[in-house]
Amino acid sequence: MDVRPSTVILQCFFILEQPDIGGTMYIDAHTHLEQFEDNLHVALEIIKKEEILTLACSMDAESYEFSKAVSKDWDLVIPAFGIHPWKASANLNVLEDHDPLIREAACIGEIGLDFYWDKNKENYPAQYKVFEYMLDRCKKYGKVSNIHTKGAEKEVLSSIKSFDIKPPIIHWYSGPRDILTKLIDFGCLFTISVDSGISPAAGELIEYVPLKQILTETDGPGSLLWVNGKCGYPNEVKNIVKEIAEIKKIDVAEMTEIIEGNFYEKLNVGFKEREDV
Ligand SMILES: [Zn+2]
Repeated sequence: MDVRPSTVILQCFFILEQPDIGGTMYIDAHTHLEQFEDNLHVALEIIKKEEILTLACSMDAESYEFSKAVSKDWDLVIPAFGIHPWKASANLNVLEDHDPLIREAACIGEIGLDFYWDKNKENYPAQYKVFEYMLDRCKKYGKVSNIHTKGAEKEVLSSIKSFDIKPPIIHWYSGPRDILTKLIDFGCLFTISVDSGISPAAGELIEYVPLKQILTETDGPGSLLWVNGKCGYPNEVKNIVKEIAEIKKIDVAEMTEIIEGNFYEKLNVGFKEREDV
């Protein structure tokens, strides 16, 4: 597709402000709305009913435009723009076209490196090039990023340090403990995902990450499907918060507030669009 933005989009910036809906909100700091396909409306109704502030990550410009269009009618959806490592090769030659999207987005994700699911080493130079381009722009525009690290945790740590970006949100971390410690020291936040209560590794991650650095995510409908065969709707975040609260020995309501506070502090979220900037 033609990824160059229209003039109108060029003039749009997302101004971050907390939505005024009262009460504590659940946080889904990493999902993919376009992956719900025919069930999108079910997911959006759940987001509204359960008051789940949702960071809709993208795989590429096309999925970003999709989430951005959804966000116009659904206040709790915040679109994030990124090029996923699996889409790196396809976007290598159009990176600069994405700059207006990087500038306007509230968060830059999903970006990162993946040396685990992507076994084809020929893709790795493209992954690096795209990831480092995005990090360079995050630094330039002062953006917070949302990062995929699967099988490339050490390399991601080295890249985020060398670009000296704002501490990012790390999505569904499953790498070695020593790198986790260094990412925590860098100030990263960590989205706990749908394998909590199921995988011992998720329990260990929850135990190890400090309260002030914990967020929750569902990663779209396919992730829980991968974990236990069930479609992962946004209200899965409620189970994740319960699991975190149990491990951290904190009341569930208090845990929900801590996670909400962590997200606000990181992104100053919700948002509304302004066209006169
Ligand atoms: Zn994802």
